[in-house]
Order: sequence, then C-alpha cells, then structure tokens
Amino acid sequence: RFAYVDGRYIRHGDACVHIEDRGYQFADAVYEVWSVFDGRLADTQGHLDRLDRSLKSLRINAPMSRAALMVVLYEVIRRNRIKEGMVYLQVSRGVAARDHFFPAGVKPTLVITARAVDREAAAVKARMGIKVITQPDIRWGRCDIKTVGLLPNVLAKQAAKDAGASDVLFVDKDDFITEGGSANAYIVDDAGVIRTRSLKSNILAGITRAQLLKILKTTDIELREEAFTVAETLAAREVFITAATSLVMPVVEIDGHRIADGKPGPVATSLREAYIQQATKTAGI
Ligand code: PLP
Repeated sequence: RFAYVDGRYIRHGDACVHIEDRGYQFADAVYEVWSVFDGRLADTQGHLDRLDRSLKSLRINAPMSRAALMVVLYEVIRRNRIKEGMVYLQVSRGVAARDHFFPAGVKPTLVITARAVDREAAAVKARMGIKVITQPDIRWGRCDIKTVGLLPNVLAKQAAKDAGASDVLFVDKDDFITEGGSANAYIVDDAGVIRTRSLKSNILAGITRAQLLKILKTTDIELREEAFTVAETLAAREVFITAATSLVMPVVEIDGHRIADGKPGPVATSLREAYIQQATKTAGI
C-alpha cells in the first residue's frame, strides 16, 4: 500500500508526518472520506466543496488546486489498485513549534490514503441492519466543520462496541437525536415521512445526505428536515444512517429496543439500492 504525504508517494508502513504537526498537537486539521466505486470517486465535487468550506472555516490554506488534488487522489487510487474502497484525505495547518496561535508562513500538511472495502460484507451487514446505542452529544459547537477533533466520537463509538453495538446516535440536551457517531441519522415516522435533523443545528452536512435528499426529490416519499426525539426514534417505522463509509445503513435496534419488527425496512433498503446505483453512475464526475 502507498500513501501520499506532502508531495511524495511513500510505502504505507513508512509514511509519517512531523512530531510538531498541528494536526497531531491540536487536532488543527480537517479531513474528507470518499467512497470509491469501480475505481472512481463518488460525489467528487460535493466532498471537494465541503473540504473548501472546512479549510476556510479554520483559515487553513488549500494545499493545492482542485485539479492537482484530483490528480493526486487518482494516483493514490491507482497505486493502491483500489476498485471498491475508500479514500481518506487530511489537511493540517502545518508544522511549527507548539504554540496555540496560528504560526506564520507554514505550509499545510496533506496526507492521502486509500483502502479496499468488501462491498459484499457491507451488503450482508445492510441486510441484517445494525444495532446502535444512544450517547449524550458532548461534542463542540462547530460539528459542521469536518475536523479531526473526533475524541467524543471515538469514546462514544467505543462505548457502542463495548455494548455489542456498532454505532451511536448522539442525543442533545433536549432529548433530540443529532446524528450518528460518523453518519447522519433519519427516521421514517408513523406517517411514512422521512425526518432528518436540519443542517442549521450543529451537525455535519453529509455528502451522502445531500445525494439522498436529491434522490428523494424524484420519489413521492416526503422528507422533512425536522429534529426527532429518542422516543420518536424508538417508535419509528424505520431508522437508518448515511455516510460515505456505510452508505445507507438500516438501524434495527437502539439501546436493546427493537425498531418495528427488528428487520431493515423497505424505505431504507430501497434507498440504499438507489444511492449505490446513483453513486456508481455518477462516480468520477
Ligand atoms: N456526521 C458525522 C459526524 C460524520 O463523521 C460523517 C462522516 O464521516 C457524516 C455525518 C456523514 O458524512 P458523509 O455522508 O459526507 O460521509
């Protein structure tokens, strides 16, 4: 395997960044994750747009032009011979003697890695649905920026694993679900309406979410960007999450309570198919 680190393609095992990289010291860095279908990046522009927004929010300079970035992304895919997989990109503010203030004149550090994904195993998982637990949303107030400051997510997801579940649903102080540990969250309520929290309320603007909303516009399923409580979620017809890594993933159990009949529902199942079809068709554009 190969990684791209600051202008060079290096064997994955040998790739490293400086000990005074601000990503390491302050989580002063942003990232993106793309899924790769048939060797091509899915939702390319959406992820690049969000990367720009994240960088601008933190006032980190773009490490290179979009065109150059595309060349590097595809070179990493090529060198790793990825057909079905994912690409991870991280940009930190750069390397400087440790001091909270932005250092002057530093160059951002760019790291890109890629790895294969077993789509068949993922499909099996989606046919079963996943178990999740709820966790208090103790993250900061700028979850709209995709930063590598993910310690609350790490702790919450580990708590899920320790409880025999595979993800979390974060819950705010008013008992509303915000999102998953690394995914956006949705319910199908008892009127058959899909609900997902609005982007105005401290969640990440998922690229998979944006694509799903586009797909929903072509169907007669109603979608409301409206928050939902834990109680509404437990009583929902269906619950599911979306992310570049898990695509559309049905949730069948929350805190040990079965959702509906405990099997993935028709809405989540058909939206997973529709998303994969759409992503495969538009990958590389
Ligand atoms: N919400 C959080 C907190 C995430 O970490 C992610 C993805 O990593 C998402 C939502 C989904 O975003 P996307 O669909 O762009 O992968």
